[in-house]
Amino acid sequence: MNKLVVLGSVNADHVLQVPSFPRPGETLHGRNYQVIPGGKGANQAVAAARLGADIGFIACVGDDAFGQNIVKAFANDGMNVDAVHCMENAMTGIAMIQVADNGENSICLDAAANALLTVELVNQHEAQIAAADYLLMQLETPLCGIEQAARIAKESNTQVILNPAPARELPDSLLTLVDMISPNETEAHLLTGIEVTDEASAAQAADVLHGKGIATVLITLGAKGVYLSRANEGAANEGAAEGCIIAGFRVEATDTTAAGDTFNGALVTALLEQKPLEQALVFAHAAAAISVTRFGAQTSIPGREEVDSFLA
Ligand code: ADP
Repeated sequence: MNKLVVLGSVNADHVLQVPSFPRPGETLHGRNYQVIPGGKGANQAVAAARLGADIGFIACVGDDAFGQNIVKAFANDGMNVDAVHCMENAMTGIAMIQVADNGENSICLDAAANALLTVELVNQHEAQIAAADYLLMQLETPLCGIEQAARIAKESNTQVILNPAPARELPDSLLTLVDMISPNETEAHLLTGIEVTDEASAAQAADVLHGKGIATVLITLGAKGVYLSRANEGAANEGAAEGCIIAGFRVEATDTTAAGDTFNGALVTALLEQKPLEQALVFAHAAAAISVTRFGAQTSIPGREEVDSFLA
């Protein structure tokens, strides 16, 4: 049994550099085609594994070559892959990503095998979730499975961390099961109706989330860092929360893909090591800052030694 369980998606990111986005009916020549391992669940699981967490991953891949190879890569990164299911007659999830020369991107997703991570499958891993200290999830797999996993966790005192990405509205039935939530500014806006533009609006958005029963709110602010807000002790639904910005690190950003994923994987790793939350956030900032200096999703996620020497 592992101390951390990550439940989430696995994707093959098909990335193509294009001069501009093709219009309907137009054919353009792209370049630098690459297939890069991605998917928010996998990215966060890989970050935690590379940084030294004792982690088991619950996920679904297809019975294709990418699916088979990625499970081997996960195991090489040191994670327990017993709960990574290879689904018959399914393809591994994909993201078709076009990156234009002006830096803009356009992305189409097919959840494929990720869509099969439903309640029945989650229930097979009840004991693993119940035995963990933390359960970390995102929103690229079916909501019914995510909510079921959160329910199992809540009943067994496993702390639930939800990274509510990609942005979507969420039912209160899920949010009340969450102990810690880590939206970016866009996701916080969608969840709370409050546009996060500064510290005051971040505090307002955090209060809305505390009102749903979530004790700890972390609104990530890109290069600016994170807004941390803790509900008053023992009364998540009452009273004004205490909040502050914990600044990130200044680096030359090359590609911010998987910054949030690296942040979440690193954060939970540091929490497992009993680091106080503020210190865990500095560790997460360091790992995420290194990741933005490199291209790609899982290709950009650093290992432990690199983060430790960055912080030394
Ligand atoms: P997401 O990638 O989910 O949109 P953010 O953009 O808010 O999330 O970034 C998450 C975290 O990644 C930040 O809190 C910070 O630690 C780090 N980060 C993101 N962009 C940068 C950057 N340009 N420079 C340094 N750190 C960054």
